[in-house]
Amino acid sequence: MTLDDESAPKAFAFDNTYARELAGTYVPWKPVAVPNPRLLFLNRELGLELGLDAESLDGDALVPLFAGNVVPEGAEPLAQAYAGHQFGMFSPQLGDGRALLLGEVVDRFGRRRDIAFKGSGRTPFARGGDGKAAVGPMLREALIGEWMHAAGIPSTRALAVVATGEPVYREEPLPGAVLTRVASSHLRVGTLQFFAARGERDVLRRLVDYAIARHDPQLADAPEAERYVGLLHAVAVRQARLVAQWMNVGFIHGVMNTDNMTLSGETIDYGPCAFLEAYDPATVFSSIDEGGRYAYENQPSIARWNLARLAETLVMLIADPDDEAAVKQAVARLTEPIDAFPRLYEAAWREGQRAKLGLLSSEHADAAALADDWLALLQAQRVDFTLAWRRLADAAEGDEAPLRALFGDRAVLDAWIVRWRELCGPGNDVERAQRMRCVNPWLIPRNHRVEEALSAASRNDDLAVFDDLLAALRKPFDESMAAARYAQPAPPETTAAYRTFCGT
Ligand code: AMP
Ligand code: MG
Repeated sequence: MTLDDESAPKAFAFDNTYARELAGTYVPWKPVAVPNPRLLFLNRELGLELGLDAESLDGDALVPLFAGNVVPEGAEPLAQAYAGHQFGMFSPQLGDGRALLLGEVVDRFGRRRDIAFKGSGRTPFARGGDGKAAVGPMLREALIGEWMHAAGIPSTRALAVVATGEPVYREEPLPGAVLTRVASSHLRVGTLQFFAARGERDVLRRLVDYAIARHDPQLADAPEAERYVGLLHAVAVRQARLVAQWMNVGFIHGVMNTDNMTLSGETIDYGPCAFLEAYDPATVFSSIDEGGRYAYENQPSIARWNLARLAETLVMLIADPDDEAAVKQAVARLTEPIDAFPRLYEAAWREGQRAKLGLLSSEHADAAALADDWLALLQAQRVDFTLAWRRLADAAEGDEAPLRALFGDRAVLDAWIVRWRELCGPGNDVERAQRMRCVNPWLIPRNHRVEEALSAASRNDDLAVFDDLLAALRKPFDESMAAARYAQPAPPETTAAYRTFCGT
């Protein structure tokens, strides 16, 4: 099959501001056609949200489009330039090596969304890479992104995954795939870093003003310095809330490089991510994260570090680089949101913990100490993070047995429960338990279950396991007999040996 614009299907009502307004920040590029596209995953609900019609979603009409074999009418595919600090080291040129932004649509709720490919072939940013992606990692993005969305955590989402019918060569040949990813934008900290590092002030200004128009339009008319400090502050707030949510569900992103941190505050790139089981803040799963830079407990400080890199890009927009005094003043102003970050994070994290503990805001007096002691208890006794929080809801209703069963030393737990009940005070226990069940997921994408589903799909071409797990993960807060096996932790040996890989 070849690219044929003549027969381009009309699928999305594209309105491509990035292509139109930001010439010089990307390379127009086409996806590579694939021999034998086959649909593995389609997000029907998201498709409808994006204005696709039900009829085409239910038939095969869109498969060539999601494979990159035909470019839909109105799309202006392009590879975005970006740089990034990877594990603390600056790479001046990364960019979309195997991804393409097809264009943007305004969805049914009036939100502008990017529609992009991943795995659609080499671009001028590919460096040594083959531009391709494998079935397993692309289904992983779909699975975990859908769980994040269902759990109320901002995330990019998969619209479709298509098997290409072509192998990709990693340590072994694997079936290839193309992912169609939807994001509120693909602007990253690294996007700004690319132009700042090259000293391209005018392009950078256009890009930053574009980011403001798209994500923080209330700042658009503010004077320059306020506008740029305002953007930094807004990103800091979004990232503080996002990372707090990650921490409160035990999510470890695994590769928080500045090119994997969005300005929108959505989680992006599910390469080496994984979830805590037994609570241990030092947990690392990624095989390449030897120093533990992106360990669970380091995520808030890494977010702050990344925001400081974002702040650096903005200095030249506020001050003339040759005017030492002005630069000094700009740095001072841009340092404020960075210094505020730990407080912003702490507030978001503590608020989340309070809700998880079932405490109303009026009952928060000693909630932080109580939460700290709870986590210390989970760590000391290596208790499953997710189940412990969830079983606390049962305890709120008076059923302590499921919670106590998770602990070896129950005397310390009992002492903690007494303090917790004191903070809860009198009140409607059933209602409290219900509130807690809305914020403490029963299901997370357990690492061994994710691997099982991806392995069946990738090795045996069997999507039944994936589909079943996906259906369960779309209801993280609903306890059901049918999904009970997905709620159980892996055996500790399995978790201890679990390693994830990125760049696949
Ligand atoms: P990631 O680790 O997925 O965030 O990607 C980091 C950088 O490597 C980005 O510039 C990607 O576009 C690029 N990259 C990753 N895998 C490939 C690949 N197979 N082919 C080309 N570029 C890639
Ligand atoms: Mg990335």
